Amino acid sequence: MHYTGTIWRPPYEATSLLLEVTAGCTHHKCKFCTLYNDLPFKFRMSPLEDVERDLQEAQLWSTDPIAMLTARLQGLPRPERLQRAFLTGANPFVLKYERLIAIAGFIQQYIPSIKTIGCFARITDVTLKSDEELAALHQAGYDGLTIGIETGDDAALQYMNKGYAAADIVKQCQRLDRAGIRYSFFYLVSISGEGRGEIGAKATADVCNQLHPIRIGVNMLTVYPESELYQEIQRGSWKEESEIEKYKEIRTLLENLTIPVQFAALGASNAFQFQGNLPEDQQDLITALNKIIETVKEDDLREYRKSLSHL
Ligand code: SF4
Repeated sequence: MHYTGTIWRPPYEATSLLLEVTAGCTHHKCKFCTLYNDLPFKFRMSPLEDVERDLQEAQLWSTDPIAMLTARLQGLPRPERLQRAFLTGANPFVLKYERLIAIAGFIQQYIPSIKTIGCFARITDVTLKSDEELAALHQAGYDGLTIGIETGDDAALQYMNKGYAAADIVKQCQRLDRAGIRYSFFYLVSISGEGRGEIGAKATADVCNQLHPIRIGVNMLTVYPESELYQEIQRGSWKEESEIEKYKEIRTLLENLTIPVQFAALGASNAFQFQGNLPEDQQDLITALNKIIETVKEDDLREYRKSLSHL
């Protein structure tokens, strides 16, 4: 299989076939982001011949004894059990409709047990597709996109150079809703900066409450020296929230969500990991957050953050 640089995937895609169709990010401008800094280029599409060759290799994992053994030693999933592919890269959904359809065709040809295809997507990737194309992509298996909306706070989206506004999130995800393509969100706690966490959380709840995300995954901002945001902090033009304020921000988000949705804080950026379904678990999650806010020391949480040499 061809893989380039660090491969990022959401925790819930652990059993999916990871297929490299892109590497890097077309946007590459968010001030806080260092995720694809290890690549010598900003964005690259994999040649379709490489994608096809990777699928041929994955197909062999169930028939060729040496390939089976190699796959087992590498902990790779058995192809006959594969039901889902996850296209790698920061935003493979940016690819042209025809290319996404061609990739779905190869997947169907070589591993027909795969029924759905997911990937990371930017809001601006959805804008590029017509309603008819979105519906046809859903028919071809595209479902369960993961979108790092980060926040519904327009001031933060603009400051961090996300390249879209809260109204765009609502408009484009409503188009996904109509096409039948489901999606999960990542929310970035502290993106609104010191003293503005609760404003950001309320604005994000307002956006989410108009939509139908499967899940909202919470990540906490962890600023690395290679990021533009780090330079802004050094210049004194932006301040991060305290660690306790981050937990208050999550609590405000939870208190203001009125939609049924899975809610999870599972990545390494979260010192305390938790998950539940709303509305059933809403109060229990808020109670757990209250306990953290009242009993855990800021210094201990700060030490945890400092210990994260990478995400
Ligand atoms: S769109 Fe995502 S991967 Fe690309 S720069 Fe922004 S946060 Fe990073």
